[in-house]
Amino acid sequence: MYDVVIVGAGPGGCIAAKTLEDSGLKVCIVERKPKNQIGEKVCGDAIGKHHFDFLHRKLGLDYPSEELKAEIKGIKIFSPDRKIFFTVETRDGGYMIDRLLFGQRMVSELGDTQLLANTAVLDFRDRNIVISRKGKTERIQAKIVVDASGMQAVLRKQINSPYIENQIDKRDLAICHREIREYRFEDQEYCHIYLDQNISKGGYMWVFPKGNHTNIGLGVQYPINPKNRFYQYIKGKPFENSKIIHAGGAAVPVRRTLDSLVALQDGVGFMFVGDAACQANPIHGGGIGQAMTAGYLAGSVIKKMINDTALETLWEYNSAWMKDYGARNACLDLFRIFLQNLTNEQINFGMEHKLIKEEDLIKTSEGRDLELGAADKLTRMARGITKVNLSRNLQFVANKMKEIKHLYRNYPSPAGFFEWRTKVKNLYQEFYDRLV
Ligand SMILES: Cc1cc2nc3c(=O)[nH]c(=O)nc-3n(C[C@H](O)[C@H](O)[C@H](O)COP(=O)(O)OP(=O)(O)OC[C@H]3O[C@@H](n4cnc5c(N)ncnc54)[C@H](O)[C@@H]3O)c2cc1C
Repeated sequence: MYDVVIVGAGPGGCIAAKTLEDSGLKVCIVERKPKNQIGEKVCGDAIGKHHFDFLHRKLGLDYPSEELKAEIKGIKIFSPDRKIFFTVETRDGGYMIDRLLFGQRMVSELGDTQLLANTAVLDFRDRNIVISRKGKTERIQAKIVVDASGMQAVLRKQINSPYIENQIDKRDLAICHREIREYRFEDQEYCHIYLDQNISKGGYMWVFPKGNHTNIGLGVQYPINPKNRFYQYIKGKPFENSKIIHAGGAAVPVRRTLDSLVALQDGVGFMFVGDAACQANPIHGGGIGQAMTAGYLAGSVIKKMINDTALETLWEYNSAWMKDYGARNACLDLFRIFLQNLTNEQINFGMEHKLIKEEDLIKTSEGRDLELGAADKLTRMARGITKVNLSRNLQFVANKMKEIKHLYRNYPSPAGFFEWRTKVKNLYQEFYDRLV
C-alpha cells in the first residue's frame, strides 16, 4: 500500500513527487515509457523563466542548464497579412529546452520516490489501481492517486464522480504537427507566432529558435488535419527543404481548467494535474510551467493531509489553483474562443488599428483585467468605426472576462460547487450564443 501513487512522470507528476520528497510518505510514480525515454514529447519546447523562479524558490529546482537550447526575450505575433507584428516581451524572458534532457533531469531528482517505468496504468477498480507491467496485469493501492498522465488522462476518463468531467469537448483541443529542423532561425531571441485563419484555423503556426535547430509547428482546431496544413504553410519558406530531425503530431487541451481538480472514489482521494486537468494556457497551449506549478500545489496539499482524505481537505488544491491560475485560464479561454471566431480580415484590422494592443495581451496573460477604459474605448471605437461589431464584441469579451474572473476568485467550497458550476456554464452558454 502506497500513500501516494502518481500516474505519469511528465513535468506535473515529477514535480508532485519532488514536493513530497522528505515527507516520509511512501510515493510511487507509474510511467508507461521506459526510463530513458521519459521527457520525450512533441512540444514547442518553450517555457517562461518565471516558472523556474517559482519552483526554485519553493523547491530549490535548478534553472535549465544541460537541457537549455536558447534563451528568449519574448514572442512576436504576426497578423495574417504579415503587415503588423506585436512584440510580447515577458518580464523575465524564457527558455527553449530539450524536453528529453529536461525529463531525464527531473527523473534524476526523484529521490526516494519509487519509479515504475515501462508500466502503464489501465484502470481504477475496487480501490485498486490496475497496472500492466512486463506483460502482466497487477494491482496496487494508494490513499491518494494523482493523475498526471497528460492528454491520456487515463483515470480522469474513468472516474465516476459528479465533480469530474470524464470527456472534454474536441473543440477545446489544439491538434498539432511539429518538426525539429536542422536550420538556424535568423531571430534567435524571439519565438514567432503566425496567425492565419485560412491555414491554421483556430490555432497558429510557430517558428521557435533552438540554436542550430528550429522548432516549427502548426496547431489547429479539431477536426482539421494539421500535418497537411503544416506542409502547405512551409512551402517556399527558407526552411522548407532543411533536414528533419524529428516530426510528429500531438494535442493539447486549450480550455478552462476542469471545474474540480479533486474527487473521492471508494475512499481514495484523486487529484488531477497538468494536461490531464486541462491546465495549459488556452491561448498558446503552453503547459509545462502550469503542470509543474499544479504538481507543486497538489503535492503541498497532500503533505498536509495524508491521514485525512476527506473531500473538504483535498479541496484545498482546488482553492489554491482556481483563485489564481484557474481564474487566469478561464479569462484566456474566453479570449481564445473570441479569437478563434475572427476572420483574417478582422484580425488584420484589429491589429492594425490596435483594437487589441500588445499591453492588452501581456495584461491578460498575467491575469490582469482587459481594461478598455472609457476614453481608450472611445478612441478604439472611433478608429474601428467600420468594424463597430468587432469593437462591441471586444467590449463584451472584456466584460465576460471580468465576470468569470470574479467567479473563479470566489471559487466555492464543495457545498457550493454545483451552483457555481451552473453559473460558469451559463456564462459560457451566453458567450457561445453571441460569438460563435
Ligand atoms: C505540439 C505541442 C506543442 C506544445 N508546446 C509547448 C510549449 O512550447 N511550451 C509549453 O509550456 N507547453 C507546450 N505544450 C504543452 C505541454 O507539452 C504540456 O502542457 C505538458 O507537457 C504537460 O505536462 P504533464 O506533466 O501534464 O503531461 P505530459 O508531459 O504529457 O506527461 C504525461 C506523462 O504520463 C505518461 N502516461 C500517459 N499515460 C499513462 C498511463 N496510462 N500510465 C502511465 N503513464 C502514462 C506519459 O508517458 C508522460 O510521460 C505543447 C503541447 C503540444 C502538443
